Amino acid sequence: MEQFIYDLSQPGRRGVDLPDPDVPETPIPQDLLREDLPLPEVSEQQVVRHYVRLSQKNYAVDIGFYPLGSCTMKYNPKVNERAARLPGFADIHPLQDPATVQGAMQLMYELQEMLGEIAGFDAVSLQPSAGAHGELTGVLIMRAAQIARGQGHRTKILVPDSAHGTNPASTTMSGLEVVELPSDANGNVDLEALRAALDDTVVGLMITNPSTLGLFEQHIVEVCELVHEAGGLVYGDGANLNAIMGICRPGDLGIDVMHFNLHKTFSTPHGGGGPGSGPVGVVAELAPYLPGPLVALDEDKGYHWVWPEKSIGRVRSFHGNFGVMVRAYTYIRMHGAEGLRRVSEDAVLNANYLQALVRERGDYPIPHGDRTCMHEVIIQGKLKGAEDIHTLDIAKRLIDYGFHPPTIYFPLIVPEALMIEPTETESKETIEAFVDALTAIAQEARTQPELLHEAPHAAPVRRLDEVKAARQPVLVRKPA
Ligand SMILES: *Cc1c(COP(=O)(O)O)cnc(C)c1O
Repeated sequence: MEQFIYDLSQPGRRGVDLPDPDVPETPIPQDLLREDLPLPEVSEQQVVRHYVRLSQKNYAVDIGFYPLGSCTMKYNPKVNERAARLPGFADIHPLQDPATVQGAMQLMYELQEMLGEIAGFDAVSLQPSAGAHGELTGVLIMRAAQIARGQGHRTKILVPDSAHGTNPASTTMSGLEVVELPSDANGNVDLEALRAALDDTVVGLMITNPSTLGLFEQHIVEVCELVHEAGGLVYGDGANLNAIMGICRPGDLGIDVMHFNLHKTFSTPHGGGGPGSGPVGVVAELAPYLPGPLVALDEDKGYHWVWPEKSIGRVRSFHGNFGVMVRAYTYIRMHGAEGLRRVSEDAVLNANYLQALVRERGDYPIPHGDRTCMHEVIIQGKLKGAEDIHTLDIAKRLIDYGFHPPTIYFPLIVPEALMIEPTETESKETIEAFVDALTAIAQEARTQPELLHEAPHAAPVRRLDEVKAARQPVLVRKPA
């Protein structure tokens, strides 16, 4: 079957027939015309079939369980899409006079306020385009505040070894230096190591709570106090906010600056590099450094753009990914405060139910199985009696059972990790069916290991050569 639309091309075949123009033709400047523009020549029907076929090869939240840990692949309510397509939101331009887009600015203003309330921050900027972008923004804000305190000689950011890869990456991009902190036996930050690392070269700590081990940091208040006593600031990676909404607020725990992943917690479709949004919330001391412009409200001017006085500047063109903000706003309004708390309670309940079932079946080790997990659980693809089976084999075999595999080999500190995040939108039956599949796979691993080594069997493509894909990427398809 054809993989590329170019393979369907036939000279002279056309997708549309335009009517003869009833206005004079405007000549195209000759220097803009190319001799040769090898676009695929295909009919409308071929285009439709090609893309529908491709879409059917894809796996999606709208098809089945998608327990990709650390990604919060929850159901995306369709009402969000309706809201985002309303002409007053979809057909406006960022350079319009604010007087003509008051509704859109009201939405942004209220979203700033609601996010601040949910996470306990004094001010929020909606500018950053994703979590990683929010991290970079936050670290730049921390650095600017340290310079203003006369602490410009501080250049280090402490990052626990369980952190998401974007944490060291965004820190390095900011020009600061990453110092890795070990976790202790219970999966918390090692307090002794933290104390030893804190000195006057430290800008601050970047911490994920709940951590990427799926655990609530049991000493979070003490961790923040230690950093503050040493003159540092605390960055909170808010990607796991789905576990704690309405239950505790990072700002109240001592976090100074945090990003939200609107596309995770607040239900915008994501993956495949689609648009995201990573607003940043800060405590009062850091508010003057936020990237602008922000939306402000007063009686005379209505909603208007303002620049924080010592802003680190723009981090993005225009005003951020507005369509994602509309979806997040709709989601928050549809749930209300109590509904958001329920989201977190159900997300944590689902993950713990899954953990309890896996523990009961006894096939897969659970490194921190003695603790209550938060909204995700880490198990290990180490099966007794099947030593040559690895997490990758188990993940690929799950595809044959109709499930998207969980995140694998992350966090890096857990060997053979499978990181499972069911989210609150999955039913008890789905979680049970998934654990049944894990159990069946454990059985196969012992009796028919080749089934796993060669999986997936039922997918449109078999096991990919990931090394070759990384070393020799084919990024542009040209006609033969
Ligand atoms: C997803 C994630 C990020 C990065 O967020 P993006 O929006 O993908 O850039 C950072 N930290 C953690 C823990 C995450 O799960």
